Amino acid sequence: MWRVRKLLSRVHETYLEVHVGLDDTDTDLEGCTTYLTFKILSKILNKIPKAFSPNYPLLIRLNPVIPFKTRGNAATSFIIKIPEKDLSNMKKLVIDEFYEYLRNIEGSGVEPGLVFLYGNIPNELSKLYRKALTDYVHKDYVTKIINKLNESIEIPLSYSRGLVGALAAIGASNTLTECTYEILVYRTRNNYSRERCVDEESIKAMDKAFQNQTFLNYDYENNKPLIIPSGRNPVLLGIRGEDPATLLKALKTLNLCEDFEGWLIYKTNQALNAHHVERSIEEFRPYQTGCIKGRVFENPSIRSGGDVLIKLESLENKHSLWVAFFSETGLGKLARYLMKGDVIRVCGGGKWWEDLGLVIHGDLLEVVELVNETLRNPSCPLCGHRMKSAGKGKGFKCPACGYRSLTLSKEKVKINRGVAIGTYRPVDSAVKHLIMPQSRVGRRSDCSKLLVSEWVYVREDGSIHS
Ligand code: ATP
Repeated sequence: MWRVRKLLSRVHETYLEVHVGLDDTDTDLEGCTTYLTFKILSKILNKIPKAFSPNYPLLIRLNPVIPFKTRGNAATSFIIKIPEKDLSNMKKLVIDEFYEYLRNIEGSGVEPGLVFLYGNIPNELSKLYRKALTDYVHKDYVTKIINKLNESIEIPLSYSRGLVGALAAIGASNTLTECTYEILVYRTRNNYSRERCVDEESIKAMDKAFQNQTFLNYDYENNKPLIIPSGRNPVLLGIRGEDPATLLKALKTLNLCEDFEGWLIYKTNQALNAHHVERSIEEFRPYQTGCIKGRVFENPSIRSGGDVLIKLESLENKHSLWVAFFSETGLGKLARYLMKGDVIRVCGGGKWWEDLGLVIHGDLLEVVELVNETLRNPSCPLCGHRMKSAGKGKGFKCPACGYRSLTLSKEKVKINRGVAIGTYRPVDSAVKHLIMPQSRVGRRSDCSKLLVSEWVYVREDGSIHS
């Protein structure tokens, strides 16, 4: 009955749709934009009785090779529908909560961005999302967008770098074609400096029960939970998966041995390889992400520690760049077996190295063609030893018996390769937010999952308002 009355009252009032975007709120020591979003969103829903959110908030990961990020380059946004008369109240509430949060965190390095957007999402913001995901966004680019959209957006705090992510996270909401979901559980502040307490056996049991609908729960190779972050931040744990209702069920099976403040389910662009756009070797620039196809120019060089460096040339032989596969991703182990002439497709992010110039840090290796034969000097027809070149145009000579030949030629031999044609991904322990883990390959992801009843939960008063 209460729900019906609430719906009817919505019908008779003029509702505004407001998009709120947030970013860059964590310092070098603590903080988390998703936590601030949880605080703001739950407060709006509790304090403004007729406010409602028609969809999950977005947790958007942006370009992973951007130097300003402190951790996972996350930004967030959410949509809120409110009666027109409550708008100023809502804005005040958001801004107060934002300042309250900034007052309470220690450390430095925040450049907070907060944006309100009214009405539909303009194309400029969808474009900005795609650029912020795969490229470097200059502040002039953002300033131009802000000036162009000045009728529909509001920037209540100062202009700062955080606006890139805040605007991009709003732009993502009508750009995503594939989505995953994550339920994040937040700690109570007095626990922040303590080790996180979630029973490990219950994590393994949850993984076993929900592994077809969740991913990256537990690293069985290193015996380490993957749902628990490290460091002084408010996140107790995060379960990632394909379906919000399943995430909630999975969470409820865990044995949490510390108090928590609440949880929030996000829709995300995580684990989709969304940053893998096709590029040519020629156009790839530092701080861009993407995939390139090329031919291995010379046999890989293996650095101490097992990192592998490969020079890759375009198939037309015109341009080249370097690719690095780091040992901790597990890709180095395979890449070391590549050979001059192999054709590969590599995805990752471009960084500038003093000694090599542009180097793509590979997070996916696709082996497309392998060289299967090589040429070697003939064996001596008299004694069977391997012959040597006798000099340019002078044929071969045998180092054992001295036999010389101008007519013998190099022979083709089959090579046994330590790597096969196929697609290789990082090991689970090295999978960063945007990267699709092996366990997700082939899953379908759907952005239109409906809100489940406990998508946001605040433990303090136990009330859920959605
Ligand atoms: P989190 O810890 O929440 O995962 P983070 O701390 O790693 O995120 P932020 O604190 O959000 O990262 O800092 C990243 C900064 O870089 C933000 O100010 C964001 O607006 C900006 N930014 C993100 N992507 C780009 C990009 N492609 N080009 C330019 N600036 C960007």
